[in-house]
Amino acid sequence: MEIEEIERRSAELANELQTKRTHLDTARADAESLGVRRRELEALVQEEERRLKERRMRLTRIRNDREQEAARREIDGLKELTSHHEEELLTLMEQTEAADGGVRALDAEFQTLDEQSRSHQAASAGRADQLRGEIEADRGEREQVAGLLGDSIRRRYEQIFARRGGLAVVEMRKDICLGCHMSVPPQLANEIRKGQSVHTCPSCHRILFWRVDSDEAATKEAKQA
Ligand SMILES: [Zn+2]
Repeated sequence: MEIEEIERRSAELANELQTKRTHLDTARADAESLGVRRRELEALVQEEERRLKERRMRLTRIRNDREQEAARREIDGLKELTSHHEEELLTLMEQTEAADGGVRALDAEFQTLDEQSRSHQAASAGRADQLRGEIEADRGEREQVAGLLGDSIRRRYEQIFARRGGLAVVEMRKDICLGCHMSVPPQLANEIRKGQSVHTCPSCHRILFWRVDSDEAATKEAKQA
């Protein structure tokens, strides 16, 4: 279950990262085309200003009134055009600044998410391996125990294991079943202590085992407590 949780989060992070990357790419492309248009306009305005300066210089050398009038009109037209382009350029400058700021913010968000994703991956790879190892070890142990038992007992064991949520073999300590905490009748407890055949708890039907030192340990624990 924990592995599923880890994998679900990994997929979620990968998804978020993909979405964020798409946003970032789009924002970058938009900022880039705004930048291209801005540079074009900057060059245009520069060229218009150069022409304006040149026309003004020429104007001072014209003596003929009609020619002077025509040159003035040309200069006015050029001024109007330039001021129109300068206004457009100003708007574009604001837009490119906003777009570049947006790209920086998105990039920072992307980096944070990327780091988060990397550390999750590192942590989850270790944890998932550990959990898989535990599950494998657990399964191996269970199969080993089951393998030691005869066929009918094995079937019983599998039934108990399924019914009792995984805990099929429990210890009997001081004549008490540690699976359900009910007492085991004295005669049955003696049989279990002999350890010559497999017995189950009359209350919860789990297979009971007894360790030579278990009663001793229980007494010691009780004294310490
Ligand atoms: Zn029991």
